[in-house]
Formats: sequence, structure tokens, C-alpha cells
Amino acid sequence: METVWAPWRMAYILSEKDRNCFFCHKLREPARDAENYVIYRGKEAFALLNIYPYNNGHLMIAPYAHVSSLTALRPEQLLELFDITRRCEQALREAMRPEGFNIGINVGKVAGAGVEDHLHVHIVPRWNGDTNYMTTISETRVIPQQLEDAYKLLFPYFSENRRFHSLNV
Ligand SMILES: [Zn+2]
Repeated sequence: METVWAPWRMAYILSEKDRNCFFCHKLREPARDAENYVIYRGKEAFALLNIYPYNNGHLMIAPYAHVSSLTALRPEQLLELFDITRRCEQALREAMRPEGFNIGINVGKVAGAGVEDHLHVHIVPRWNGDTNYMTTISETRVIPQQLEDAYKLLFPYFSENRRFHSLNV
């Protein structure tokens, strides 16, 4: 079967899913992308800032499909999930000049998944000597201003006009 990009199907797809799902909830509010720190919407997946970051610039990339495992994704969903992850890596690299990254997926609660029903990739930029960050933010709350600054800094990197090293180019 040929896959057709049919955005009107989104309401139907989402209506069947868990209404309490954090990611599906954000997807249903396109007008509130800035408040929700949704930084990019693709055809099959999207990216947003983690409001409980392990580090400044911590992003999450999730498929639109409400699935809990990589094995449930169709090839085109898998491809875009990782293509957006790569965009995130590039945007973070250019905007924040990190010295490294942690990129990973927690599948299942036992593995540390915070939202275990909806698969998502974490990408955390790392700098030398940043290991105290988690302690710092667990003692104080994440400052909204810091999230807003990160959002404003990164958002331009996800403009459609911007050139990314896409698989298709
Ligand atoms: Zn979901």
C-alpha cells in the first residue's frame, strides 16, 4: 500500500489514543506549540524541548504514532524519527556548540521510560564539566526563562528553508 500524507487523518488517529498521553496531548495543540516547546513537526514525527531537562538543550523526538516500541513503527516512521533526531543533533551542534551528545531511547518503565506508552528519543548535549547540572536542577526548579531561551535559540534551526544534510539531498 502506498503511504499518503493525509494530515486530516491526525484527528482520527489521535482520537483512538490514550487521551492522557503527554506526547499525544501536545500533538493535539498545534496552536500552542511555542508554549509546549514543540520545536518541529514533520510528517511522521516531531521534536520538543524536555521541560525536565538533564541538560540545557535536552530535546525529545517522538513519532506521531502512539506506540511503545521501535518494532511497531513502519519504515517511513522510523526513518523520519531518526532524520529529525539528526536535525536536532545538527541544530544543537550549531547553536550550542556542545562537546558531545547522549542519544537514546528508554523502552519500558524498568528501563527508565518516563512516558512508557509513547516511544521517544532523547538527545542531550554534553559539555565538559556539566555533570553537576542534574543536581542543580533537582534542587531548584527548571527556570522557565531558560527553557524559553533554549526554544528561541533552537527554533530558527528547524525552519524549512534551512538546509539540513537530509538523506534525500
Ligand atoms: Zn501518545
